[in-house]
Amino acid sequence: MNIPAPGTFSVYVHFPYCEVRCTYCDFNTYVVDNLPTKAYTKAVLTELDSRRSDYEAWTLTSIYFGGGTPSLWGPSGVGKVISALCEAFPRQTEHLEITMECNPSEAKLESLAQYVDVGVERLSIGVQTLDDVLLRAVSRRHTGAEALAGLMAAREAGFRSISADLMFGLPGQTTAQFVSDLRVLAEMSVDHLSVYHLTLEPGTAMTREVRAGRLQLPDDDAQADMWEHIAPTLMPYGLKFYEVSNLARTGHESRHNSSYWLGRPYLGLGAGAHSFCPPTDWSNLNAYATRRENLKHHRNYTSHALRSASVTHGLERIERDAHLRERLFTGLRHLPGIDIDALTRELKIDAREVFAGPIDRLVDQGLVRWRGSTLSLTSKGFTYADSVASAFF
Ligand code: SF4
Repeated sequence: MNIPAPGTFSVYVHFPYCEVRCTYCDFNTYVVDNLPTKAYTKAVLTELDSRRSDYEAWTLTSIYFGGGTPSLWGPSGVGKVISALCEAFPRQTEHLEITMECNPSEAKLESLAQYVDVGVERLSIGVQTLDDVLLRAVSRRHTGAEALAGLMAAREAGFRSISADLMFGLPGQTTAQFVSDLRVLAEMSVDHLSVYHLTLEPGTAMTREVRAGRLQLPDDDAQADMWEHIAPTLMPYGLKFYEVSNLARTGHESRHNSSYWLGRPYLGLGAGAHSFCPPTDWSNLNAYATRRENLKHHRNYTSHALRSASVTHGLERIERDAHLRERLFTGLRHLPGIDIDALTRELKIDAREVFAGPIDRLVDQGLVRWRGSTLSLTSKGFTYADSVASAFF
């Protein structure tokens, strides 16, 4: 399985622009008349210069361009950031995973091949659904046919690994439509699938429409039915869950996302990006990790970075016990589970003892199980993963 090794770190680069705002989206993204790509590239490179020393003790294992729509940045901007990162962090794992998110409307062979040339080797395409009526209902600009053409172009362009995002619980969506999307994508030989449940975020256009009764979401039973179809539909194609929302063919698991779930360090660059930096060694009694959040608004971020002012908006100190809690919370969502003894050795805190109560209760309820020193979800626990995770809070 493609798991980041201990001692490694990841970089997330945020590109905060989109062509249109999808009705359900509350991400940090902006629709502007002229994309300020040059200024934004310079801002990200300036931020990298000021932050690199925090991560020099670690080995770089993955880079992820997310957004927004990073495929609007252009191969030149993305390539400059990749080169600068490789120069800033010469200590790298043998295979460096480099992913870029892409909207189907930008997934054209010529530009995709240019992204491959500058080093992107994994593409994540925001398909969401293949049904044109549903796509229009959530203001996506592409059609189902364009999404499929994009997947074919990605294969031809030469990406090592291709991932697709798919949503369920969309207004008017049926289980039959969703299952058909799963099957078509699996038949297209996608290597990885992220399957998300539509959530109504405060302040989005979709939330207002649903609250006003103008849009109706499938009821809870229908949504549960869709979720239950995922594993049996995809298993025959070799796509297996390795996290509660992610499936992959063996060897195509996202190393970058696994880094988050395993509590590895990450450097976030760009508007609103978050970073996490633990100490290299928790032996010191006063050791703590830090979480940093960048200025959120794109103009604010760029103008600060370009005059070499700090782009940090918030800095949080994470104590050892809080970090342990987070490691259990995110680590259990990762289906291989957590080696509790290794965690105890790493954090110098007895994880079995601190959480003896919740762990025993979850084992009694048949939600988690021990295999040696590894604690993992049972199939029942997999269905109730959110409540399992919250047992540690
Ligand atoms: S393309 Fe993605 S980031 Fe942009 S508005 Fe739509 S969902 Fe949000």
